[in-house]
Amino acid sequence: METVRSVFQHGWKSLKLYFMIGHPGETLADVAAIADLCKAVLQEGRRIAGGRARVHAGVSTFIPKPHTPFQWAAFDNLATIESKLGLLKEALRGTKIKMTWNDPQASLLEAWLSRGDRRLAEVILQAWRNGARFDAWGDQYSIQPWLDAFETLGIDPDFYSFRTRDVDEILPWDHINAGVRKAFLAEDYRLSQAGESRPDCRARCYACGILASFNELRQAQPGGGWQCP
Ligand code: SF4
Repeated sequence: METVRSVFQHGWKSLKLYFMIGHPGETLADVAAIADLCKAVLQEGRRIAGGRARVHAGVSTFIPKPHTPFQWAAFDNLATIESKLGLLKEALRGTKIKMTWNDPQASLLEAWLSRGDRRLAEVILQAWRNGARFDAWGDQYSIQPWLDAFETLGIDPDFYSFRTRDVDEILPWDHINAGVRKAFLAEDYRLSQAGESRPDCRARCYACGILASFNELRQAQPGGGWQCP
């Protein structure tokens, strides 16, 4: 709110806030808090900038990605995402806060592709043969060519999206070194499930793995940009 005050005091009239729904463990109270925050921001904007203050809330859906602590987590199910979006639309109705959001079905496609394995190459080709084109364009996207492709190839799409992986499962991207140790990510994941987080690593190093991964680079640039203890 301090930043919001500063922005409006410096003359900006319009503020866009970005949110993500669908995080593992998210509750409806968490989602309702998004609307509360937007309302509080608009109220503060009006206090400073008057009736010209505008707030725009962009809401996207969380998609678990490889090489992150949530690479084992399931993508939120579509009915839950719809109900969370419904809650937000209802809470922001009549407030003059503009809300935009991602189509949950387009997010589902992203969820399949984000944690796909080599079998998805065939699915992508088949979906293209089925007519899938320009899927990132809202007016072009259709989930049906994709569902048909999965069915033709006998592959269950839910395997990629709605499944929680065991932490010791071998993942399709395990052979790629992104710099951070898998055990470090697993510990972050475990902490998140317990509702805990790690304190900032600038105070205490957890040996996440990047120092070893980028050893050569660090030696080539002594002192340059590497602030790890
Ligand atoms: S201080 Fe550096 S090496 Fe240690 S956990 Fe943080 S980013 Fe990783």
